[in-house]
Amino acid sequence: MAREFSAGGVVLRKMRGRWFLAVIEPQMERPKKTAVKTGRQRKKTPPAIIALPKGAIDEGEKPDQTALREVEEETGLRAQVVSKLADIKYVYVRTWGDRARVFKIVSFYLLLYRAGKLGNIKPEMRIEVQRAFWIPLDKAPALLSYKGEREVAERALQYVTAHPEVGEHAANPSH
Ligand code: ATP
Repeated sequence: MAREFSAGGVVLRKMRGRWFLAVIEPQMERPKKTAVKTGRQRKKTPPAIIALPKGAIDEGEKPDQTALREVEEETGLRAQVVSKLADIKYVYVRTWGDRARVFKIVSFYLLLYRAGKLGNIKPEMRIEVQRAFWIPLDKAPALLSYKGEREVAERALQYVTAHPEVGEHAANPSH
């Protein structure tokens, strides 16, 4: 089976005493141009995917560097690494090219917001990211689309509960 390795981030920011997490709506494949949809078909339009920013680990890159780079490219945010959270694994089938089954491992890191405006991304990145927005961290396990990512968000929640000092630092990012 083909293998792919990616890395991504759970970017946390404390606003008004509450933790928020940066998520993206990845740009999915466009539906094929067919006849106008009738009522029943229209109802079948899948709900938007809500996911964590991530991407392929480049040659010679360390996974935590990939996480920071991909977060910046896909969300416009600069962040710092706090801790590794988990590796998630899934299998998917490529819908392009060789149509191979792919075994994928994605390493996720807990990152702390430093600077930047969410959604302030390069025009070429809009092909991959439809939009980016903040969600409350405690809602993330319910809102994220993929099981593996929901578990990663649970871990982040556990981490900030066990390490409240992360929040002290977040309130004062310049110190
Ligand atoms: P990357 O962001 O790592 O560059 P990509 O955009 O090429 O990757 P994926 O995000 O891995 O590819 O998506 C490939 C397929 O896997 C899609 O069908 C997507 O819906 C599915 N997928 C993505 N993340 C997960 C996940 N955590 N669990 C299960 N399936 C997933």
